Amino acid sequence: MPSENDDLYFLDAGQSERGGHNYGLADTCLQLYANHQLARGKLTTSDEDYLQRVRDAIDADMGPPLIRGCMLHAGMGHHYEAIRREQQGIDSPLASVEEAVVHSADEFVEGKEHIDIVMETMTAYIESRGNEARRYKVLAVEQELRAYVKVDGRKELITIRIDLVLQDRQRRTMVIDHKGRMWGNPKTVRGYANGMQTLLLERFGRKEWPDTFYGVYLNLCEWPHHTKKKQGRPKFVRELVPSRPAALDAVSDTLRYIAQQQHALVEAGTDPRRYPKSFGDNGTCEHRYGPCPFVDICNHG
Ligand code: SF4
Repeated sequence: MPSENDDLYFLDAGQSERGGHNYGLADTCLQLYANHQLARGKLTTSDEDYLQRVRDAIDADMGPPLIRGCMLHAGMGHHYEAIRREQQGIDSPLASVEEAVVHSADEFVEGKEHIDIVMETMTAYIESRGNEARRYKVLAVEQELRAYVKVDGRKELITIRIDLVLQDRQRRTMVIDHKGRMWGNPKTVRGYANGMQTLLLERFGRKEWPDTFYGVYLNLCEWPHHTKKKQGRPKFVRELVPSRPAALDAVSDTLRYIAQQQHALVEAGTDPRRYPKSFGDNGTCEHRYGPCPFVDICNHG
């Protein structure tokens, strides 16, 4: 029997090593990036108090949307991986969707509280997409891809983990990114479209499947809204992200510029507490979805 720690039994549905999240954070605010790198042990500081406050801020920010999103990714990954293995005749142990969701819940202090709603959503999703195994070939699930950009004569690693790749009967290859949402609407797609993560998905998709790549889709999964009077139903929308050629062209230069800034700060020995901050009045520190988790630290030390 496979053990719970066997990677073949549970897929890794987490962030990739040097992926769009990292670069997106650095592109937004270098202090935001530095704090996350500190918490992950990728940067260091001798100020233990600062480090602890950063960790506490990240834990406090790990609210239901993020926890459910991680658990949803685990469930989705195992659902599609089971299909992929069956289509390819691969007979090896794999956790069920429910086992994967429960296993993922263990990563969070309050994870168990969200098992029911994530499983309700996954069950409804699988019912609504029941014929996908006949319509699509599953090419990849939670696959990490790697590439390099040249930065000042050295190679900078860029990684990305692609949630799902499907190919239809016309051999159109679709890169799919799952998003667990409170509410989804057309603005949601526009909100993600210019994010570094989505742009990188398209760049990698075009590179990996050059002859058949069709586009990046957001697989929006809206949680059920239950009230005292009414039981809601989860909703699902799969939306094609409009391609943006000029933005795609600019991705490599942008990544290069971010990497140059990161290297310069490390080589200058800059204390991670003193990384440049994004104080523009563009809503970075006080976003419409809520304040940056580090706003108290940046404002009051
Ligand atoms: S509060 Fe503002 S400056 Fe500080 S890390 Fe967050 S976005 Fe950057």
